[in-house]
Amino acid sequence: MSHDPASLYARHQAVLPSWLSLYYERPLELTHGEGRHVWDAEGNRYLDFFGGILTTMTAHALPEVTKAVGEQAGRILHTSTLYLSRPMVELAERIVALSGIPDARVFFTTSGTEANDAALLLATTHRRSNQVLAMRNSYHGRSFSTVGITGNQSWSPTSLSPLQTLYVHGGVRSRGPYAELSDAAYTAACVADLEDVLQQTAGGVAALIAEPVQGVGGFTMPPDGLYAAFREVLARHGILWISDEVQTGWGRTGDHFWGWQAHDGNGPPDMLTFAKGIGNGMSIGGVVARAEVMNGLSANSISTFGGSPVTMAAGLANLNYLLEHDLQGNARRVGGLLIERLRAVAAGLDVVREVRGRGLMIGIELVRPGTDEHSPEAASLVVEAARERGLLVGKGGQGGSSLRIAPPMTLTVAEAEEGAELLADALRSAQGLL
Ligand code: PLP
Repeated sequence: MSHDPASLYARHQAVLPSWLSLYYERPLELTHGEGRHVWDAEGNRYLDFFGGILTTMTAHALPEVTKAVGEQAGRILHTSTLYLSRPMVELAERIVALSGIPDARVFFTTSGTEANDAALLLATTHRRSNQVLAMRNSYHGRSFSTVGITGNQSWSPTSLSPLQTLYVHGGVRSRGPYAELSDAAYTAACVADLEDVLQQTAGGVAALIAEPVQGVGGFTMPPDGLYAAFREVLARHGILWISDEVQTGWGRTGDHFWGWQAHDGNGPPDMLTFAKGIGNGMSIGGVVARAEVMNGLSANSISTFGGSPVTMAAGLANLNYLLEHDLQGNARRVGGLLIERLRAVAAGLDVVREVRGRGLMIGIELVRPGTDEHSPEAASLVVEAARERGLLVGKGGQGGSSLRIAPPMTLTVAEAEEGAELLADALRSAQGLL
C-alpha cells in the first residue's frame, strides 16, 4: 500500500466533488487513532482537539465500543426496522430516560441531517404548517430541507445572532443584523422581532429550530436569556422548540447533559435531535419527541439503516462508558481549565479577539492583528501551524475566522495543558506571519 498523501490527493480530486474541501494545504491522511491521539500515513502523531468533527465523543478506538461493534457484527450486521431489535430498544430506552421529554419516543436515523429532516417533518405535520424559524449563523445539514434552515452563509460579523425567518421550501428572508447592541437590548430587540414575525405569519409557524451552541458557526452562544425569552413567546403560541443537539449533547458543554438545558435553567425542549458523538464514529442520528408528535405521521416511515444493530451496540457501549466515567464532569473540569489557559494565552496576543465556550466546546475568534477585522487567513495559518506542531484543531465561524476546539471528552489535564501550549505556539507563529 502506498503512503503518499500527495498522489492520493490527486486521485481524490479526480473522482470526488470540488466542493468537498479539505482543511490542510498539504493533505493529511489519517490512518489510525487511540485515545485522544491520531496518526497519519507518514507515522506522525497528533493530539486530536477536534474529535473527528465532534464524532469521537469518548475516545478513538475505545476498547468497549470496538468490542461491542465486533461482537454485534459477528452476530448480525443488519436486520431493518421491520423486525424487533434488542440493541435498538435498549438504546431508545436510555435516550428516552435521559431526554427529560415526557412520554418521549425516539426515531433513529443515520445522520444529523436526516434527524433534522425527520424533526421538520414531524413538527410541520403536527402543527399543519410548513413554516419554520431558525437562527442566523445556524447549521442544520445539507439536505434540501435542512439547507433551508441553515443560515451560516449570511452571518454578519458585528451581529450576535439575530433571528432569521425561514419558510421551508419557500426561500429565506433574513432580518437584522442588530449590530453593537448590548446583550440585554439585543434580547429585547429580538423578542420584539419574534413577536412581529409571529404576527405577520398569523400564528402559522410550526417550530423554531436552534443549536444551543452554534457549532459550524464557530462555537458561538446566544446571549443569556435569549432562548428562554423566545421559548416563553413560542410556548404561548403552541409553537414547538426543536433543540439541535448534534454537537452539544451528552454533557460536552459540561454543565448539563443537553446544551439547551445548560442555558437559563431551561427545562426540556419539545423535540431534540442528536447524531455524531453518541456513535463514537459510527453513522448515527435521531429525533426525540413526545408520542403525540412522533406518532402523528400517517406514512410508514422506515429507515433502512437507521437503528442498525451495530450502530446501536456502539451507542450503548459508548453511553455506558460516558456515564460510568462521568465524562460530563470531566468536560466541565478539564474544559474549564483549558478555557482558562487559552484566555491567559490570548491576553498576550493581538490575533485573538475572544476565547468563548463551555466545557469541551471552545471557540477562539481571530482578527487581523491591530484591527477588529475577522481573519479567516489567521485561522488557516493557525490550523496549519498547529498541525506542524502535532495538534489538530477545527475552524469555522463567519467565513472561517474561528478556531473550534472539541477534543474527545476523556481529555486529561496533562493533554489539555500540552494542547494549550502547542496552540499558543501556533498562534504566536501565525501572528508573526500576518
Ligand atoms: N446539526 C448540527 C448542529 C451539525 O453541526 C451538523 C453537522 O455538522 C448537522 C446537524 C448535520 O449532521 P450530519 O453531518 O451528521 O448530517
